[in-house]
Amino acid sequence: MLSNVRILLVEDDRRVAGAVATALRRRGHEVLAAGTAAEARAAPDVDLVLLDLGLPDDDGLNVCREFRRRGSVPIIAVTARSEERDRVAGLRTGADDYLVKPFGIAELTARIDAVMRRVVRSPRHRGPLALGRIAIDPDARRVTVDEQEVNLTRKEFDLLASLAGRGGGVVSKEELGIEVWHTSWLGDAHTIEVHIASLRTKLGDRSLVRTVHGVGYRLQVEEPAGG
Ligand code: CA
Repeated sequence: MLSNVRILLVEDDRRVAGAVATALRRRGHEVLAAGTAAEARAAPDVDLVLLDLGLPDDDGLNVCREFRRRGSVPIIAVTARSEERDRVAGLRTGADDYLVKPFGIAELTARIDAVMRRVVRSPRHRGPLALGRIAIDPDARRVTVDEQEVNLTRKEFDLLASLAGRGGGVVSKEELGIEVWHTSWLGDAHTIEVHIASLRTKLGDRSLVRTVHGVGYRLQVEEPAGG
């Protein structure tokens, strides 16, 4: 288990914030607490943000978007509403993961560990990859399609890199869950589908990421005509 992660806990419910902060500190993490969107925006740099989407002064999704624009700090979105569209909106806005209230501390720390493990591991020093119309530079986390830069969220990039790592081969949803989210919690395949859908939209050509029904996905790697 990781410890000593500096966490910004954005939560307006004092009871929840107190319980979560105590549990995280007991596990050796440093916790900075913010009760409003304004306080979250003014907070110093941290290793990870735990962000309640239901804040009194602004929509947490706006805060999520701003953090994402500012940099690559991992964000775990927290929502009291279990509605699908909130989860989807959170992930689209650039959150790395989400939790639905009420959640247990074991679940929370598992998510934190999974998100932080990935950060600790990167960067992978691998050269740029060119696959047909797509070029990927893993160090710069830069993607181009037909030499036009495409701005991807962290998860979208990781998904694409994972598919690209297999050339044009099929990658199962289970493998993507492990490679991209570093956890098998994604028995919830819908999360992958949401990210694949937004990745396709951003790449500008839906046929670049092919669905292999009942299995997973693969990249469309064009073969030069006539070899
Ligand atoms: Ca709240």
